[in-house]
Amino acid sequence: MHGLIMESELLISSILRHADANFADREIVSVTVDNPLHRYTYGDCFRRARQLANALDKLGLSRGDRVATLAWNDYRHLEAYYAIGGAGYVCHTVNPRLFPEQIVYIINHAEDKWVFVDLLVLPLIEQIADQLNAVEGIVVMTDDAHMPETSLENVRSYESLIVDESDEYEWPELDERSAMALCYTSGTTGNPKGVLYHHRSQILHAYAAVMPDVMGLSSFDCVLPVVPLFHVNAWGVPYAAVMTGCKLVLPGPKMGDGETLYQLMEGEEVTISLGVPTVWLGLLQYAKDSGKKLNTLQRTVIGGAAVPEMMIRQFRDDHDVDVIQGWGMTEMSPLGTVSTPKAGTEDLDADEMITLKAKAGRSICGVEMRIVNDDGEALPWDGAAYGALQVRGPWVCSDYFKLDGEGGAHTDDGWFETGDVATIDPMGYMAITDRTKDVIKSGGEWISSIDVENTAMGHDAVSEAAVIGVPHPKWSERPLLIIIRANGAELTREEMLGWLEGKIAKWWIPDDVVFVDEIPHTATGKIKKIELRKQFADYDLPD
Ligand code: ADP
Repeated sequence: MHGLIMESELLISSILRHADANFADREIVSVTVDNPLHRYTYGDCFRRARQLANALDKLGLSRGDRVATLAWNDYRHLEAYYAIGGAGYVCHTVNPRLFPEQIVYIINHAEDKWVFVDLLVLPLIEQIADQLNAVEGIVVMTDDAHMPETSLENVRSYESLIVDESDEYEWPELDERSAMALCYTSGTTGNPKGVLYHHRSQILHAYAAVMPDVMGLSSFDCVLPVVPLFHVNAWGVPYAAVMTGCKLVLPGPKMGDGETLYQLMEGEEVTISLGVPTVWLGLLQYAKDSGKKLNTLQRTVIGGAAVPEMMIRQFRDDHDVDVIQGWGMTEMSPLGTVSTPKAGTEDLDADEMITLKAKAGRSICGVEMRIVNDDGEALPWDGAAYGALQVRGPWVCSDYFKLDGEGGAHTDDGWFETGDVATIDPMGYMAITDRTKDVIKSGGEWISSIDVENTAMGHDAVSEAAVIGVPHPKWSERPLLIIIRANGAELTREEMLGWLEGKIAKWWIPDDVVFVDEIPHTATGKIKKIELRKQFADYDLPD
């Protein structure tokens, strides 16, 4: 017997309608290439999103057609999110920092029909335009006054596209399982793979994100997503923050700049910000060097890579800011776990609380998780057993775009293989020990590179640390610690090894330490272990 409840599809246009009715005068502040500080309201944003939806309909697109964006976090990109998805097309966010060959592959694989680009990205598109098979036209996200000379055909400015359109638009009543967004994983192995989100998954994910024990968003908040709109829907912020009426601050192309972030946070009274650990290194360093304190920021969601304890401590001690570690994946929309405390953790002292927050966290209602051994048997949640982490839930991908079951990432009983290795403690807090492919196997036992890196990062003279396994005749692999020293700091191999002693298992202590000026990162800010392994493949470890 079915229940007697209205049939109402979960669509992102419903967020827009709700926010328009309740929060029309909330502010959205953006840094853009053509305007250092653009300000307008939700009401303005939605009016323009309706104009854009009208314009898109006239481009001759069909339902489900992909429209790409290569753009930073700003108001036009946000309008595109709502207009493209809301009108029944698929907003394909492409990371402009990828290699041109990867961008060509991704746009062709997705068969994007139109491409919306930031002014800064236009030269890249000019370089690859003749290789883009399905693209019919380009929209540059600026006005006519700022349009540069270009060799491209069928190009127009965003403002000229929407200026004459009506700001009335009837959002279509779509099936909630219609695709509305597409994002490719960075593909550290093989070609990038497309994750195709639907309206339902994004709405459920947004409801989960705003919960008090997740991001705890409300209309009193001011949110600054440093995580890009081109990376997994900026962790759901465009939907979750707008659903609750938060003020939005979008940093445009200035995302990696500690000083700009600091000024935006203070000037706009930001209460919550989100980003990967590398971004916060820059901000914390800027604050330290200039003797400044973050006065309005209350909490920061950090994920995408392990969060070093030192970072959680520095935010707490220097700025009174609470760190919420999050773990997730492109394939998971992305939220899976958050390291917020729960009933039962009241008696933890300050240090124990830091240890808890340094874990990836407990699962959000909607995401089920398990760890399994090599035979696929579930392992206990005892905080010690580690195995391959698998998840399932209504915002976890069921397949990759156009791979038709060939993605090889799902088990026969319907779980998604995350590629991460983890422990789960009796309280349900999960801790990532490694990517499956980054695990260091020494004498048949696993060494957690993340734990060693985090401990090394705890030393004041360390700015960044990476641990990789290098071949060893007796143990098959042994860890090598690669370090960037903090500005002007002195640190020797012996001092570093001494620092690790007693803090990690004796046999986890790296066999050697090398100091470098640079550690390679992926376009989304993760350490490129593959490249480091290549670089140090022939490294001679001392006896
Ligand atoms: P990619 O496209 O590189 O897969 P994702 O953002 O989807 O980009 O990366 C997901 C991966 O990032 C996870 O599987 C995990 O290995 C890593 N990751 C994310 N959050 C954390 C975290 N809090 N701690 C450790 N690793 C994390």
